[in-house]
Amino acid sequence: MGTLSIQDVSYTYKGSRESHLAVQGVNLTIQEGEIVCFIGPSGCGKSTVLNMLAGLFHPTTGKIEYEQNEITGPGVDRGVVFQSYSLFPWMTAQENVILALEQVNKGVPKQELKQKAKELLELVGLDKADQKYPSQLSGGMQQRVALARMFALDSPVFLMDEPFGAVDAAVRANLQDCLVDLWSKQQKKKTIVMVTHDIDEAILLSDRIVVFSPNPGRVSETITVSIPRPRSRQSLFMSPRYMDLRAHLLTLLHGEETQAWEEKVSSL
Ligand code: ADP
Ligand code: MG
Repeated sequence: MGTLSIQDVSYTYKGSRESHLAVQGVNLTIQEGEIVCFIGPSGCGKSTVLNMLAGLFHPTTGKIEYEQNEITGPGVDRGVVFQSYSLFPWMTAQENVILALEQVNKGVPKQELKQKAKELLELVGLDKADQKYPSQLSGGMQQRVALARMFALDSPVFLMDEPFGAVDAAVRANLQDCLVDLWSKQQKKKTIVMVTHDIDEAILLSDRIVVFSPNPGRVSETITVSIPRPRSRQSLFMSPRYMDLRAHLLTLLHGEETQAWEEKVSSL
């Protein structure tokens, strides 16, 4: 089974003068086909953990396994969308997506890939911008190209770091729906790990929400979202279960922020 397993992981950024313990003692198992959102105060290590899952950073202590093999680097089994959009600047939106398609569709004629790229860009609402270069696109549009590229790679695991952070609310809702739609239609469901700072987004999308404590990041709570799918925004926002969960998350996050602030003040 495609389980992701984070085992007693810590991560220390090593600078030339000082080092910084960003993540400590994280244990987490994510099952195949699960949608898990990471939430927590800014700087608590969410991106660091995601980067380790992607294989871009190696845990300082502990280990991370995918399908019981230690993750030692990036792989086509794990597609990523990061906060910085990481598109190739010398390629158009379409070419960026085609490049991803080529990686997993060896020998398929270019014309077919072009058509597929067109469909994917349409899916993220960017069909009219396919000939534009990343520098000609807004941050939100670049994020959407990165999303289309991740869909193109069609990896069993999607790792996403605030993928909808730079897009406006209406497009954001569309992309959330598009992601869940894609996920729910597949027989072999993708595992999705997503960092977000948006509580509503986390509840709407997640099977489980992992709440991180402030620096150094630890898992302070894991919450199962047992609201049945499909979840419509309208019915969700009116359901008592949603209200309870939202209040709980707000208290958790707000409480932790207050605590961090108090610590800061007391150390002055
Ligand atoms: P989050 O994504 O939750 O906002 P990050 O994982 O980006 O948090 O960062 C966790 C902590 O590590 C923060 O305190 C941040 O300042 C620190 N950090 C991040 N990147 C570096 C780096 N390259 N060098 C040193 N410290 C870093
Ligand atoms: Mg981050």
